[in-house]
Amino acid sequence: MKRVYTTQTIDKVGEKVLLKGWIHSRRDMGKVVFVDLRDKEGILQVVLIPSELGGDYSMVEKSRVEWVIEITGVVQSRGEKQINPNLDTGTVEVLAESFRVINESATPPFEIDKNTSDINEELRTKYRYLDLRTERMRNNLKVRHDIMHYVRNYLTEKEGFREIQTSILTKSTPEGAREYLVPSRKHHGKFFALPQSPQQYKQLLMVAGVERYFQIAPCFRDEDARADRSPGEFYQIDMEMSFMTQDEILNLTEKMFISMIKDLFPEKKLTFEPFPRLDYDYVMEKYGTDKPDLRNDKNDPNELAFAWVINFPLFVRQSEDDFFHGAGDTCAPSHHMFTMPKEEDMHLLDSDPFKARSYQHDMVLNGWEVGGGSIRIHDPKLQQKIFDIIGFDDEQKKQFSHLLEAFKYGVPPHGGIAPGFDRLVSILAGEKSIREVIAFPLMGDTRDPLMESPSEVSKNQLDELGIEIKTGKIKS
Ligand code: ASP
Repeated sequence: MKRVYTTQTIDKVGEKVLLKGWIHSRRDMGKVVFVDLRDKEGILQVVLIPSELGGDYSMVEKSRVEWVIEITGVVQSRGEKQINPNLDTGTVEVLAESFRVINESATPPFEIDKNTSDINEELRTKYRYLDLRTERMRNNLKVRHDIMHYVRNYLTEKEGFREIQTSILTKSTPEGAREYLVPSRKHHGKFFALPQSPQQYKQLLMVAGVERYFQIAPCFRDEDARADRSPGEFYQIDMEMSFMTQDEILNLTEKMFISMIKDLFPEKKLTFEPFPRLDYDYVMEKYGTDKPDLRNDKNDPNELAFAWVINFPLFVRQSEDDFFHGAGDTCAPSHHMFTMPKEEDMHLLDSDPFKARSYQHDMVLNGWEVGGGSIRIHDPKLQQKIFDIIGFDDEQKKQFSHLLEAFKYGVPPHGGIAPGFDRLVSILAGEKSIREVIAFPLMGDTRDPLMESPSEVSKNQLDELGIEIKTGKIKS
């Protein structure tokens, strides 16, 4: 017999079915045991009565929650009064004819039947595979999947984008964030870096003539947790386009999100359509932040107030804790160093750089920055000049020589955006923390209690890499 999922039983009344899954809950009434059987699609009530069941009933009595079982039985409709409106399969149940235990389960450290949000996060993360069995977490994974597939299809089918994977082992460059380094075994003393974003690769793809690129890209930044980003790694819907104005890039991106929300989340309301385009100076003066929450009703979880913020200053004052340069009154890029200054402000680069505005654009949603991007510099001389203004020395400039070299060979005007995938999913799933929409998240202190990473490695492993540990332990 072919296995069916719990939800497929709804229109199979009178038919004999084979079901497999977990015991979600059980009620032993003495003469009858009710089991809620859970599989990837849902939950279904199974009725186990000794007289109906061929074979040994003792395993039914012994069975416990989270055991993996297989049953056969006949689907029957429930009486009017027995209908369970809380279950998708609430109109039917299965009267078991056979019951087989495939695997037993230890008693789980928390109840899977319940919403686990009150449970200690360390414990939930350590047993993530159990937490993911809960309805809420299964739904969160589905929302993430649905959005990912929608974006993929939309960009490739409707807009002619090419999905391209770029390298994970790449080069350390002073692009802004602190990078994760990966020691090279073949080249002692040399390191790869994990990409803080595919920014340089996507610009090189524009030099390559790809014109429309995207990927759902992992980004790695060795920084402390931020509210809108998971520590260590996060995902972006990374996009880059050639021969397009800022307006056209914003239009395309906004059309995609509006269409996605209407198709996947019909219960949500968009406050603005199209999204307003607000001047940076205006929002800073009016709201005191560059990511204002523009909802009419801030308590409505279904209201989505998207907006664009544009006309950012090109530079901000270097902050005290700037990793590369240290404090000072020197210019740091507001977005990143590849962002194009406004033509009309080009003359300010020498005289008053802090006054120059740029082609940066941020997408904000309900008070979160959910994406940023810009029109890029495509003139190697201007790129050099920006490097000078932000105070790069020759060594730092040399780290970007591949980009300047590539720009010698006919680079098209280009620009892009990278909506933050995790935050977007969390808002649409109605979750406060992005960890709730990541299958295996790191804790806030960049540690995974499930795999117990990061972990010490052996002396042999270090020797192969030519590395000696100055502080901390080596695995004995
Ligand atoms: N790479 C940028 C970032 O990670 C986004 C972009 O400019 O497209 O913020």
